[in-house]
Amino acid sequence: MDSDQAYSTPPIRFVLVGTQHPGNLGAAARAMRTMGFSNMVLVAPEKAPNHDTDAMAAGAEALVHDAPVFASLAEAVADCGLVLGCTARSRRVALEELPPPDAAVRALGAVANGREVALVFGRERTGLTNEELQLCHAAIHIPSDPTFSSLNLAAAVQVLAYALRMAQLDARRDVQAVPNPTETHEGEVPASHQDLEGFFGQLDETLHAIDFHKGRAPESAMRKLRRIFLRNELSIKEVRLLRGILADAQRMAMLANQPSTVSDKDPM
Ligand code: SAH
Repeated sequence: MDSDQAYSTPPIRFVLVGTQHPGNLGAAARAMRTMGFSNMVLVAPEKAPNHDTDAMAAGAEALVHDAPVFASLAEAVADCGLVLGCTARSRRVALEELPPPDAAVRALGAVANGREVALVFGRERTGLTNEELQLCHAAIHIPSDPTFSSLNLAAAVQVLAYALRMAQLDARRDVQAVPNPTETHEGEVPASHQDLEGFFGQLDETLHAIDFHKGRAPESAMRKLRRIFLRNELSIKEVRLLRGILADAQRMAMLANQPSTVSDKDPM
C-alpha cells in the first residue's frame, strides 16, 4: 500500500479564474493530482474543457470534469475563511504578500482551524483583476525573475501544490501542530468570506455617513482598510462586535444630520 493512503491531503480548493487555454486546465489538474489534491473549482472558463484538456491531464482529467463552475470569484469563495490569490506581479497589490512556503503554512493552519481555504489563479494573459484580488485575504507571489516573472498557469499551480505538500510533510514529521500566527482565539468560529463582505459593505456606508472621505477617493481608503481587516482572519464574534460599532456610528451620524427641532423651540 502506498504510504500516502494512510493520510488524507488537506481539503484546499484550487480556483482557476477565467482560464483561456483548455490544455492548461488539464495540466493544472495533473499538477494538483501529483501532489495529492483533487478539489478544483472553475470560475467562468473562457473555453470548455476539450481534447487538449484530457491530453494534458494525463489521467487526471476527472478533476476538471468534476469541477464546479461559478460565474464569479465571489461566488466560488463565498464560504471560505481564507482566500489566497496568486499573482505574477509582485508588490503591485495593496495586500500582504506571501511566498509559497509561508502561504502553505498559513493555509494548513487555517484548515486545522476548521476554515475552508481557496488558492486562486488568474487568466493566462491578464492574471486576476484588481477587484478579484480585493476578495483575497493575502497575495501569493512566487519570487520569480522580476524581468520575466510570469509562470505558466499550471506551473504556478504545481509550485503551490508542492509547497503545500512539503508543509504538510513537515508538519507530520514535526508532531507539533502547524503554527498559524494569525489564528483566531480558540473555540471561535472563523468569519466566512460572505461575513467579511457584509462587514465591508457596512464599513463603506458608515464612512460615507460620517463624511470620512471629504472629497478624497473612497476606493483608496477602502483598499487600505480591507487590507487591515483581511490580514487578521477575524472570527464571527469579532465581526459582530465591529458591525455593532458601525451600527452605532451610523445611528449617531443620522441623528447629527437630522434638522434640529428642539433648539428652535427651546426658550433656553
Ligand atoms: N500575464 C499575467 C500572468 C498570468 S499567468 C499577469 O501579468 O498577471 C496565470 C496565473 O498564474 C496568474 O494569474 C497567477 O495566478 C499564476 N502565476 C503566474 N506566475 C506567478 C508568480 N510568479 N507568482 C504567483 N502566481 C503566478
